[in-house]
Amino acid sequence: MRSLQQLIRSNVLDFQPYTSARSEYKGGSNIRLDANENPWGTFNRYPDPEQLQLKQALARHKQVDLANIFIGNGSDEMIDLAFRIFCRPGQDKALIFTPTYGMYEVSARLNDVAVVRLPLTKDFQIDAEAYREALADKDLKLAFLCSPNNPTGNCLDALTLVLDTFDGIVIVDEAYIDFAGRDSLLEQLDRYPHLIVLQTLSKAWGLAGARIGAGYASAAIINLFHRVKPPYNVSTLNQEAALEALSDTATFEQRKAMILDQRRWLEAALRRLPMVKKVYPSDANFLLVEMTEAEQVYAHLAAQGLIVRNRHSQAPGCLRITVGSPSENAQLVGALQQMVLFY
Ligand code: PMP
Repeated sequence: MRSLQQLIRSNVLDFQPYTSARSEYKGGSNIRLDANENPWGTFNRYPDPEQLQLKQALARHKQVDLANIFIGNGSDEMIDLAFRIFCRPGQDKALIFTPTYGMYEVSARLNDVAVVRLPLTKDFQIDAEAYREALADKDLKLAFLCSPNNPTGNCLDALTLVLDTFDGIVIVDEAYIDFAGRDSLLEQLDRYPHLIVLQTLSKAWGLAGARIGAGYASAAIINLFHRVKPPYNVSTLNQEAALEALSDTATFEQRKAMILDQRRWLEAALRRLPMVKKVYPSDANFLLVEMTEAEQVYAHLAAQGLIVRNRHSQAPGCLRITVGSPSENAQLVGALQQMVLFY
């Protein structure tokens, strides 16, 4: 297995990171004339570049050390930073298991990194044999495992196979883990020094608009993310929104329970509809649904202002339906029942 030093792009190791005014002087002060800020206003000061309070709240909530936490402007920022830290453009490659979250490939292409795509099996699991064959490619630096996976909704079974055998950085994207009946890989951080766990606050925490992604990894990897990130990557507003949400775990639990309850309701209601061929089992806050006429169903719903995600290009005949509020879910089912009348 290659060491972390062997996996990092040499320019990331060699360069001198920017030091912002706020990271250079950390003491308290009433007069701050060090950051060319405006002395008046509500958001006139730069945010804490290290997001200390937010990290403290996450450390308490997740039972991890501060040194193992990175906050990104959404998980999407961390995905992009991972390419910039580890992959040499035009040389290194990333491994993804398809269908999966589209940003892995978009970020790869943007960074001029080739992608090796391994199709998941028909029950959306990793094909262990194809995976073992893919390991022959020594240019692979990053592997993305999305579990629960978007858009399929299921957890991947072979996470430890990849963690034990991949000679590079393994990024496990747990955006939907709070909706799953499985443990997070966070507890395994000590065991796997090349593991990065991504947990956005956009889903179960309801903060998609605030753009907060949390990443957990060894202190050495977290340091690298700090080296390359833009100095003030998470705004004061974002940090405050996240702190407020994290201080109210009762609301978090209540909403999560409601989403899980609605997922069960929606799944049962969809199964009764004639155009529904299959509702895939879900560990997330959405359902992947195979329809007889997916394109027509999509158009019918859209005409009524009901927007679902057409995933036909990734999973033939499938729509991805987010679990909404009870009234939104009832309207969706109502619109589909109405369509049955014209069938
Ligand atoms: N990972 C997965 C698997 C996702 O589905 C999404 C959002 N659709 C993200 C990451 C993006 O997270 P963020 O909003 O924190 O950028």
